[in-house]
Amino acid sequence: MLSRSPLPGPEIPNLDVSIGSLAHMTTSRLEKVKAATLLDPLLQKLTRQVMIGWPEHRQNCESSLHQFWNFRDEISIIDGILMKGDRIIIPETCQEEILRQIHTGHQGIEKCRLRARRAVYWCKIDKDIEDIVKRCPTCQHHQVSNSKETIIQQEALRPWEVVSTDLFYWNNANYLLTIDNFSSYFVLRKLSSTRSSDVINKLKVIFSEFGIPRKVISDNGPQYSSQEFANFSTEYGFEHSTSSPHYHQANGKVERFVATVKNTLQKCNETKEDPAMALLAVRNTPIASNLPSPVQLMFQRKIDDGLLLKSSTHDNSSEVLTQHRQRHIQQYNSKAHDKPDLEIGQSVRIQNPTTKLWDPAIVTQKLLEPRSYEVEASNGATYRRNRRHINTTGEVFTKKEPPTDDTQEPTPDAKPIVSAQDVPPGATITRSGRISKPPKKLDC
Ligand SMILES: [Zn+2]
Repeated sequence: MLSRSPLPGPEIPNLDVSIGSLAHMTTSRLEKVKAATLLDPLLQKLTRQVMIGWPEHRQNCESSLHQFWNFRDEISIIDGILMKGDRIIIPETCQEEILRQIHTGHQGIEKCRLRARRAVYWCKIDKDIEDIVKRCPTCQHHQVSNSKETIIQQEALRPWEVVSTDLFYWNNANYLLTIDNFSSYFVLRKLSSTRSSDVINKLKVIFSEFGIPRKVISDNGPQYSSQEFANFSTEYGFEHSTSSPHYHQANGKVERFVATVKNTLQKCNETKEDPAMALLAVRNTPIASNLPSPVQLMFQRKIDDGLLLKSSTHDNSSEVLTQHRQRHIQQYNSKAHDKPDLEIGQSVRIQNPTTKLWDPAIVTQKLLEPRSYEVEASNGATYRRNRRHINTTGEVFTKKEPPTDDTQEPTPDAKPIVSAQDVPPGATITRSGRISKPPKKLDC
């Protein structure tokens, strides 16, 4: 099992718990690093020093370990692997392989350094990164003059609230790039055409995965200025903003990312590298030294890109998840226990035990058994239902039979009970009682 070295100084609470995820990540590479650490004379010296504790004065420390002196308090040993904070100290024989991994996506010196800083360490790592990028023909061929990025749009206060979208053409294909203005997380889709309908279908799929943003920003291209797109924005309930001087910056953002993505695809094409891994690297690289990666901003957790060997011993994502689950359970419990009593004549929705859909009904009787009711469904039949299978509704249903009394007019917003049998196959009843037709197709 995993154990920590007897470090002098205070114990780090919960460390052993979170190491579980490190064990989970123990890929062949972690094992390799561990084995190489054992064979590395310098790191073995360092291990011994960490085990026995550091001397009080630098001059009492062996000179080869002086390079670690300034951050000696950060160094620990986890399961035979040396750590500097939450970065793994990489033995020399593994450095080249790790360096290649850092360079995945050909992101340039600064971005590569930011990536490395989250995960790995060795003494000359910054210099080695600079060298690999400067020696990489692909990077040198495609280097761009990097303008300073406006990182987070003021307008967006949380992930996926405001997104910008644009089309680009690369390697005989059209692509749709959608970027979250808050996190800079982007979603890329290949388009079969540049027609408005195709763009809309792709955006629908993206929104089904990430949610509907409050605002979508685009240029004035025909795909976006079409009536079809206007209808789409009304139907999905987002605000659509096309380029105007006010949003110039936002368009600049998506245009910059189009350049980044195209550049990444082009480099991968030339080097025969996996473009998916390269794009993951772009999403997973810190935006700046003081800002997390797009992935972290978007999902509040780090994701494994093969470099993140240590699975972040300091990552609190599992803690966040636990809290989230607890909240969920509390919500569930409060919902489960707080179902109020129903009144006779009240409009409700009852769950069909087979279809699990909620059909309109009216409460006709309160039964003796606790939490049981008799309800009348739209077909006129009465059912006995547990409160668990009855939901209150804001709708008002009336019974189907014609009123015996002329003065008894239905209330203006009352709707007749619509039953599942009245509905064409594949269609559903919306919350407001309207029948909605099935979507055309889910185009992934
Ligand atoms: Zn490169």
